[in-house]
Amino acid sequence: MPETKETPWYIVRRSDIHNKGIFARKDIPDDTRIIEYVGERISKAESQRRADRLIEKSKKTGCAAVYIFELNKRTDIDGAMTWNPARLINHSCDPNCEAYIIRGKVWIYSLRKIAKGEELTYNYGFDLEHWTEHPCLCGSDNCVGFIADKKHWKKLRTILDGLKASRAAAQAIEAKTSTEPHPDVRHAHPKRTRKKPAAKKAKR
Ligand SMILES: [Zn+2]
Repeated sequence: MPETKETPWYIVRRSDIHNKGIFARKDIPDDTRIIEYVGERISKAESQRRADRLIEKSKKTGCAAVYIFELNKRTDIDGAMTWNPARLINHSCDPNCEAYIIRGKVWIYSLRKIAKGEELTYNYGFDLEHWTEHPCLCGSDNCVGFIADKKHWKKLRTILDGLKASRAAAQAIEAKTSTEPHPDVRHAHPKRTRKKPAAKKAKR
């Protein structure tokens, strides 16, 4: 049966990683354009204002979601709108999707075949600026413990090893990640402007 164009690849459900997540409604082939990360296009200055405001709020309430996606050097996308279900895609250290910027739009693509019912995830690509505020709960075997771009993992592991060497510091990390409510900050300044490799895979 031909697939109806209107049927999306995903559904929204409660996630074990964090709040709600996006799940495969049906089997998704490798390298499939699944969903666009949409939102309001804003300047860097406006982006900074909104992020600062939300981070301030999160310090008071322990909860404020920032869904700002870095599009290019001048523009960010604020995707904190209900009409942007892609905002609910969780981070994973072993993701099955990747976010690519293609002609000024952000698209979430599958990185492999995804079975019906699997949660969709991608690496948020955070830098190490505020890594302690973003503990990772992805549960992957290779989880580095915090949300960070893979290119920072080596450095992050070195930092974590150094901290573990100090018992006091280790206890501080424990307190930070297990008892203190951490702000629900998802897309705070993701330093990602990744382009989809043009000839990544031949179309089957
Ligand atoms: Zn993880």
